[in-house]
Amino acid sequence: MLCRVEDKFKEECGVFGFFNRDSYKTSKITYYGLQALQHRGQESAGIAVSNGEDIVSYKQMGLVTEIFNEEILKRLQGHISVGHVRYSTTGSSFVTNAQPLSVRFKSGYLALAHNGNLINADELRSELEDKGNIFQTTTDSEVILHLISKYHSLGLISAIKETMKLIKGSYALVLMTKDKLIGIRDPNGIRPLSLGLLGNSYCLASETCAFDTIGAEFIRDVEPGEILVIDEKGLTSERFPEGRSALCIFEFIYFARPDSNLNGINVYIARKALGRRLAEEHPADADLVIPVPDSGNAAAMGYAERSGIPFAEGLVKNKYVGRTFIEPNQKDREIGVRLKLNVIKDIVRGKRIVIVDDSIVRGTTSKRIIDALRSAGAKEVHVRVSSPPVKFPCYFGIDTPTKKELVGSTKTVKFIRDMIGADSLGYLSIEGMLNCFDGKCKGFCTACFSGDYPMEVPAEGKKYLFEKR
Ligand code: AMP
Repeated sequence: MLCRVEDKFKEECGVFGFFNRDSYKTSKITYYGLQALQHRGQESAGIAVSNGEDIVSYKQMGLVTEIFNEEILKRLQGHISVGHVRYSTTGSSFVTNAQPLSVRFKSGYLALAHNGNLINADELRSELEDKGNIFQTTTDSEVILHLISKYHSLGLISAIKETMKLIKGSYALVLMTKDKLIGIRDPNGIRPLSLGLLGNSYCLASETCAFDTIGAEFIRDVEPGEILVIDEKGLTSERFPEGRSALCIFEFIYFARPDSNLNGINVYIARKALGRRLAEEHPADADLVIPVPDSGNAAAMGYAERSGIPFAEGLVKNKYVGRTFIEPNQKDREIGVRLKLNVIKDIVRGKRIVIVDDSIVRGTTSKRIIDALRSAGAKEVHVRVSSPPVKFPCYFGIDTPTKKELVGSTKTVKFIRDMIGADSLGYLSIEGMLNCFDGKCKGFCTACFSGDYPMEVPAEGKKYLFEKR
């Protein structure tokens, strides 16, 4: 059996949409947009383009740069597009499940790119199947297409609203008909989606870093519960009743790129503030602050700034090994860890080190890093985490493990400290984390830390129900 080098968790998805009202190359812009969102999913990618009469699409397993080339992009001719990068949270990983999903139905064509996770997809799918609907994929996203098609006679917007009444969970959607691009966010706004403008052409993206890449200007976020329709004439906005505002706080902690702004807050600045607060809550007597790259970089900067302990890069990440597969024996696994992260021995030797990471999930990463630092001669290793203990599984698109695999859910901080072999361990408090955003955001989903879900969630045993299909 082969396994992944890193036993990290699956990431979610990134979505992008473009309505070309100038003379840009639609598929090329979409390709660049998706490349900027590659960190949100590396398993498959796809682009669907409409030329006003028909939709053509291309999707494959792999990275955006591996899938597309000039020739393929040239075949994707049209003025509207949707794109998707995926790392499955529901549905197994094969190319049929890759997105955008495109269908023909009675009212025409639809292509859909979805970031998020529906928690009642199984029930809805089963009801639809009982009525004779045939599904092509094992994803929750296909349920959305079937429901829109089911209500098509009401007109597109009413069909979307009827669908939104039925689906529960998180969804940032970019939907394309033959002449419209539509951005939709779930009523709680759990997953991010923003609107940008390139010349006279509108774009939608999971993160604003995609706008910077293509040279577009950020206009605004799509609001929770908003159905934003873009067509030849411009923008129209429809509202579905907004729920409790609950943007996923883990986007700030780990997922989003530091150069993105979510709800008007820059991710890098937020992470640095978390690090400063962490230094106040858990000071350490040490010689150096070292980040776990890359997600711990900004928080480590903040920690160093507030504590006055010098910042140093003592761990070097090899950015090219993420997709390597190795034999699961101990020796190769150790090489796998060193392939991914290496210690700069001359920096850490004889030093008391504070390492700053964004989160501890199972605890495996921290343990390996501490072992490596000690082998390199570090005198003491203190671990500081710029988020609270991850205690509860996510049902809304971040594929955290079940509760019993989350070390923070069943073990005390002291136990985890000993398990990972640290001299001391300090997590940021929930209150401290929220204080860093004080007044800057309407509300967050903090469920992975607090268990306070924005809606009723399935029982723990049902978490992976979708996967079993
Ligand atoms: P663990 O080794 O299980 O404790 O995982 C913690 C490490 O994984 C940290 O370095 C995080 O940056 C990273 N991490 C946290 N959440 C995720 C996720 N959902 N997907 C991938 N990596 C993650």
